[in-house]
Amino acid sequence: MTKKRKHIAIVGGNFAGLTAATKLSRRHAVTVIDASKHFEWMPNMHELLSSVKTPQGLRLDRAAIVKQAGHRFLRDRVTALQPPLGRLAMAGGRELAFDACIVAVGALWNTHHIPGAARHALPFRSVDDSLAVAQRLRTLLQQGKPLRIVIAGGGISGIEALGEILRRHRDDPSLSVEVIEAGARLLPGLPAELDADLRRLCTPYAVNFRTAAAIASVSAKGVRLADGTRLRSELTLWTAGLAAPALLREAGLALPPLGWADVHPSLQSRHFDSIFVAGDAAALPRAVAKQAYNAIDMGALAAANVERFLDGRALVPFKPAPKPVLIAFGDLQTYLIAGRHVLAGKVLAGAKEGVYQVFMSQMAPEGALSSVPAAIGRLWQGWRQLARPQLLSLADLKQLPDRLAIRLL
Ligand SMILES: Cc1cc2nc3c(=O)[nH]c(=O)nc-3n(C[C@H](O)[C@H](O)[C@H](O)COP(=O)(O)OP(=O)(O)OC[C@H]3O[C@@H](n4cnc5c(N)ncnc54)[C@H](O)[C@@H]3O)c2cc1C
Repeated sequence: MTKKRKHIAIVGGNFAGLTAATKLSRRHAVTVIDASKHFEWMPNMHELLSSVKTPQGLRLDRAAIVKQAGHRFLRDRVTALQPPLGRLAMAGGRELAFDACIVAVGALWNTHHIPGAARHALPFRSVDDSLAVAQRLRTLLQQGKPLRIVIAGGGISGIEALGEILRRHRDDPSLSVEVIEAGARLLPGLPAELDADLRRLCTPYAVNFRTAAAIASVSAKGVRLADGTRLRSELTLWTAGLAAPALLREAGLALPPLGWADVHPSLQSRHFDSIFVAGDAAALPRAVAKQAYNAIDMGALAAANVERFLDGRALVPFKPAPKPVLIAFGDLQTYLIAGRHVLAGKVLAGAKEGVYQVFMSQMAPEGALSSVPAAIGRLWQGWRQLARPQLLSLADLKQLPDRLAIRLL
């Protein structure tokens, strides 16, 4: 007698969800559901602000990747997930029954209920968000008036966005930037020397950093800080904080107040055995950074553990691999951080570019005619814009040993 194929639903098809899909065996009936057409590579999204990257270079066709893995893709949004019934419902009216489900819905931008922020600040969470910021920047600069930018958040996204704005527009005398960070220093949680180095690099430009500062409200004219200071701003970019998607709480996977899905070390939900949660949406007993490299590894483990669960085998715990963090600061600097150790140097831009190229080529559907020119385009663009100027700069190469030695903490 042939065994009945088990149904596995994957909600969300970006880093964690798509990785899970590519790892799941074709002996199961797997359906990936995501509201948008494209996989998006967020770690290089800031480069849209300087046109170093194009939207096409950061996107891959989700349906083609899922099809190549032998599974089904539905472009839709899951509106209700009912773990006890093994069912989910989609905005388009469809319903799907599942034996197990991988939830990989990521995170949303978080304006922390600050009055006016959702209305007047621009989010920075997707390729479309980044294009909207780039367009707004261009329009404002063409007007030839003073362009005052406030960046809410001095974490990785805010700093990388600032770097690209400076790469493209730092010689424009009308531009000035205020970076507001609630923590005591820039890049909170990372070595303190980074804060000092960023401030040093920005000395020649009209950039002001305010740390231990909180935004109280945002309006069309600017922001007001908690201490009463008012800052005029023609463009307020919001990069501060992440929020959990409501679906997690509504499905009973998360408890208030934070709303991330509680999981066992195996990524199995603490509330429902048939649900596994991977990527930013998951709250492990020992928190891991909400970063793409963890989401990819969690996606792979969720796939393996769902198969073990369906076969009645023991589950395996998630062991986050220690990976260095690469932070690009436009064409001014790139940092590689491994624990307490920091390397800094423009040549490291090639390393960040390499991570991007390798992942995109591995994920791109094989044999898809459209992917060949896209891959060549990505490589050429990356080489032309980033690697070539950095790697072939003799001055930089000569300085390399010093830079590394100086920054090795
Ligand atoms: C500007 C920026 C820069 C970053 N830089 C880095 C970096 O340099 N290095 C790094 O490691 N990480 C970086 N990250 C973090 C990284 O992008 C995230 O950790 C990663 O995207 C998490 O992957 P995920 O699969 O959990 O979620 P996501 O990638 O957010 O994917 C979630 C998917 O779920 C879908 N979805 C959500 N709700 C539903 C629903 N109800 N129904 C159907 N589909 C749904 C969404 O459409 C989306 O495709 C950056 C993030 C940003 C925003």
